Amino acid sequence: MEFELNCTPLSTWLPHKDVAIIAGPCSAETEEQLIATCLQLKNLNISALRAGIWKPRTRPGNFEGHGEIALPWIQTVKKEVNLPFAIEVATPQHIELALKYGVDILWIGARTTVNPFNVQDLADALRGVDIPVMIKNPVNPDLALWLGAIERIHKVGINKIAAIHRGFSSLQESKYRNPPTWQIPLELKRIFPQLPIICDPSHITGVRNLVAQVSQKALDLNYEGLMIETHITPDKAWSDAKQQVNPEELGEMIAGFQIRKQKTDDVEFNNHLEQLRKQIDEIDRELIEVFATRMKLVEQIGDYKKDNNISIFQLDRWNEIFRTRPIWAEKMGLSKDLIQEIYKLIHVESIRKQTEVMTKSTEKV
Ligand code: PEP
Ligand code: MN
Repeated sequence: MEFELNCTPLSTWLPHKDVAIIAGPCSAETEEQLIATCLQLKNLNISALRAGIWKPRTRPGNFEGHGEIALPWIQTVKKEVNLPFAIEVATPQHIELALKYGVDILWIGARTTVNPFNVQDLADALRGVDIPVMIKNPVNPDLALWLGAIERIHKVGINKIAAIHRGFSSLQESKYRNPPTWQIPLELKRIFPQLPIICDPSHITGVRNLVAQVSQKALDLNYEGLMIETHITPDKAWSDAKQQVNPEELGEMIAGFQIRKQKTDDVEFNNHLEQLRKQIDEIDRELIEVFATRMKLVEQIGDYKKDNNISIFQLDRWNEIFRTRPIWAEKMGLSKDLIQEIYKLIHVESIRKQTEVMTKSTEKV
């Protein structure tokens, strides 16, 4: 990736010890609800507060947020609880109002990140403004859209920037509201190593009893922050009631988090890790050799089919491979799903190779 991201470390705009916690209700419903929730959060050593003022609802008729009316409530909260406050913005007018009322941090929601026109409008409104902006992943599992939104915001001079991973919509049945598909944010981190990533386990899970588990997984993957929807009386919430926790539950959750260090100076640990990694390197070399041998055979099969005028794709054979390999894998303690995914990729490559072989030999004729 040619684009370089120069972003400010998260701790400069979101001070934290081990992990930055952003907490607060899904929506600002009433001044009392907002103040009561935030006052309780004050005791939890969190880094920032959050609340939705403009709520993007999939269908009309649900609570869509109070808009500007709720912005003075945030000012009151900030006087009582000395913490930065984050809200979602989806239009340039939202940004203008957020700045007018002294909101500290903005985030771009998943339904906005999907649309480059919208994101560019927001970027244009942010030109020359010094405010932290967090960019949620797009609703659909499309890394390019997420990258594009981050680039657009960064290009207008925003350096205090973070990505929020809130899971992706999926057609497959899942215990999650928005399955996390961890490889997408991990790839984002590979492309932009400096970019802080925050996990939003509330929108990933959609249910409060899974929030701690997904938060821990994010911490195990070295995420720098968590955004957790917290409400004084979650069951009575006007939006996302099932996934919100109360401040007490949030406190217990934070106390239970295991913080993993990224590195250690322990010589014995480092030596042992190094030795295990060397073994992995060797095995990976062997794996690649075996894979190359398999592909050579695929080429031979391609030639042979071509000579005998047989089509490339053979449904019965593919079904047999797809049925047997997961059984073999399971017997060796490997996950069936993993082997299925690997074989889907191998099959695509086999078809591509055989097509190449066939076209080449056709060209020869
Ligand atoms: C939210 O954070 O309340 C929200 C609407 O999230 P998302 O954009 O991830 O759906
Ligand atoms: Mn919500």
